Amino acid sequence: MVYINKSKDQLYKLKILGETARFDVCGNPSIPSSPGRHPPRHHFIYPAAGGNRCFRLFKVLQTNACEGNCFYCANRQARDFPRITFVPTELARLFMEYYRKGLVDGLFLSSAISKGPDQSQEEMLRTVEILRHRYRYRGYIHTKSLPGVHKDLIKRIYRLSDRVSLNLEVPGQEYLRKISPSKDFQKELLSGLTEISRINRHHPLPSGITTQLVVGAAGETDRELIKLSDKLYQELKLRRVYYSGFTPLKGTPLENKRSCPSWREFRLYQADFLIRKYRFRPEELLFDEEGRLPQNQDPKLAWAERHQDWFPLEINKASYWELMRVPGIGEVSSKRIVEARKSSKIKEPEQLKKLGVVVKRAEGFITLNGKYYHKSKPEPPRKVEEQLFLWEGI
Ligand code: SF4
Repeated sequence: MVYINKSKDQLYKLKILGETARFDVCGNPSIPSSPGRHPPRHHFIYPAAGGNRCFRLFKVLQTNACEGNCFYCANRQARDFPRITFVPTELARLFMEYYRKGLVDGLFLSSAISKGPDQSQEEMLRTVEILRHRYRYRGYIHTKSLPGVHKDLIKRIYRLSDRVSLNLEVPGQEYLRKISPSKDFQKELLSGLTEISRINRHHPLPSGITTQLVVGAAGETDRELIKLSDKLYQELKLRRVYYSGFTPLKGTPLENKRSCPSWREFRLYQADFLIRKYRFRPEELLFDEEGRLPQNQDPKLAWAERHQDWFPLEINKASYWELMRVPGIGEVSSKRIVEARKSSKIKEPEQLKKLGVVVKRAEGFITLNGKYYHKSKPEPPRKVEEQLFLWEGI
């Protein structure tokens, strides 16, 4: 039974609506805090990467009083849980208090669906309008577009936001049926994201458009998730796809389902990185017969080890994109190598080290001025989270 509790104090509201907003991902996993700027321990302030600093997002739902009953969701109507709603003036004022005190750098606003998606989106829009017009707030706003909202509302939200996102959740209708049977993948989710992308093509948002996929709730494979992400990057020009590992919640039909292991979420981010930044095609990545990415190896190393015909690559001749395929060489070190080669040949592993190459990892795949430096001792396995640095802008 849904009830709206308006009598609780604002901190209590923020705690509940901030905590449930955590299921919306808007930054990479394991993002470190920037030195000397630890965000306060509030349930509604989340660190995200903004440029090369830690960006503190005031992340909150307008309401968690949902009329929907998605099987995995904390806000589902049938779950016994306190229901809270912010009125737009109250939420805008609260955000401004935190912003003016220098406690947050931007807003992430989402909502459950109450009295239909249009009505809920209107409430969010009202909050954002108050911020932009009454308080003349010019800072960062990431607004969630709700599934099935009218195109006019999408346009109005779009005009006032720095980033707009709409969660697709799964790779298609067959999977959506297993976790959100009342939603229509094509009509409510994909068509909404396509509309946002259409507007973005003419008037690009400063922080682009994004979506989120839930991992491990509906039986989808990594291959399907990565293929969908690639399509979204290529065709809808999304800035980012976020992967949110499924966590079973008490009081939901999926409460006894296994949670998504963190390594799976991390491998998806690595594979996503390769298709988005390194020009890998999804079909080049290694998946097992059940469509899973390897658990114990990062996807770039897995690809390199199975493409010995490609290697060793001569560092002084390889193109920028060829260098990007070498384990231990990333975007920054590729650029530096190309730049350094203009003045003289690179002859020593020490020189590569200075350019940011992880030589131990790269040496089995390269030659330096015709010389192969690879030592036979293999590099010890590294922790999953150390295998690819994912610090990026939100
Ligand atoms: S509509 Fe959204 S908020 Fe409501 S139950 Fe489904 S996923 Fe949760």
